[in-house]
Amino acid sequence: MKNNESQNRCDMIRDLLPLYQDNVCSEGSRVFVEDHLKSCPDCRSELARLKNTCFEDRLTDETKEVLGNHAKMEKRRTATVGMITAGVLMIPLIICLICNLVSGDGLDWFYIVLTSLMVFASITVLPMLVPRKKILWTLCGFTASLLLLLFTINVYTHGTWFYLTAVSVILGLSVAGLPFAARQIPLPAGLRNQKSLLVMIWDTLWLFALIAACGFYTNGTDYWSVAVPITLVCTAAAWLIFICLRYIRVHPLIRAGMIAVFTGCFTAGINFFIYWILGESVQTYLLAQDWIYNLIIGMVIAGAGLILIALGIWRSLKSHSSSSTSSKANPS
Ligand SMILES: [Zn+2]
Repeated sequence: MKNNESQNRCDMIRDLLPLYQDNVCSEGSRVFVEDHLKSCPDCRSELARLKNTCFEDRLTDETKEVLGNHAKMEKRRTATVGMITAGVLMIPLIICLICNLVSGDGLDWFYIVLTSLMVFASITVLPMLVPRKKILWTLCGFTASLLLLLFTINVYTHGTWFYLTAVSVILGLSVAGLPFAARQIPLPAGLRNQKSLLVMIWDTLWLFALIAACGFYTNGTDYWSVAVPITLVCTAAAWLIFICLRYIRVHPLIRAGMIAVFTGCFTAGINFFIYWILGESVQTYLLAQDWIYNLIIGMVIAGAGLILIALGIWRSLKSHSSSSTSSKANPS
């Protein structure tokens, strides 16, 4: 047991140890510390601990620096490759520019080559040149350049189809790419947890825009009364599955079962609904051979769903009873 005086001395030495360790104390203090260390094992182990901590800190700093430098070097290298690829793409572009100028009165098909190369560059050069949010930038760049290419071809061929293809391209790329790119979109705090909901709303709006664009383009008389209800029912089915997956908080097996039951009923019934919308009679529906297959497939899926629901209920009851038993055994 240390007496008061030696404890005070140890405290004083501990205050001096960091300076001693960094070699920035006076000569007098250094001798004082060393004299004390010879006779005090506690302060010696404190000095050893200090040395270890310093070493670990230095190691962490150096590791961070090396990794940071490596990342910077990689970024620089990728950017250089991007620039070189962009440079290489300029060669066919210049050749086409000259050919188009020589062969015609002015530039026409050159713009198609230009926009095609922009589409190519958007998926090769662009990801290498942007420093972060690569998926989001690539998706935006690819969509924009593809729309520009379609617009150029539409003008070149005097077409009237641009809006139809534009909506299809936006819908298709949104469905395929937006779930990945959405993570990189900066959103206000309240919406940050609702990205999947926003993606669903965005896709639904573009789907209905496509249905409308097809209606205007084909100008069919019966189009709207058929296309709108069928699209509404199919979209509602997709929304129901989404809501079930995202918002219903039950055992995962029950959730999977609910989705399977719903998908089964949808598979079994959708064809009948479409026949009804098309104004066909029940006899026509029953005469078409495929309804029996849809019914069988639908029933199998729904049956599997019911089994999953039963399993889920059993599992959650079991975990509930075991947790209540353990809480009775260890009342806190
Ligand atoms: Zn001491």
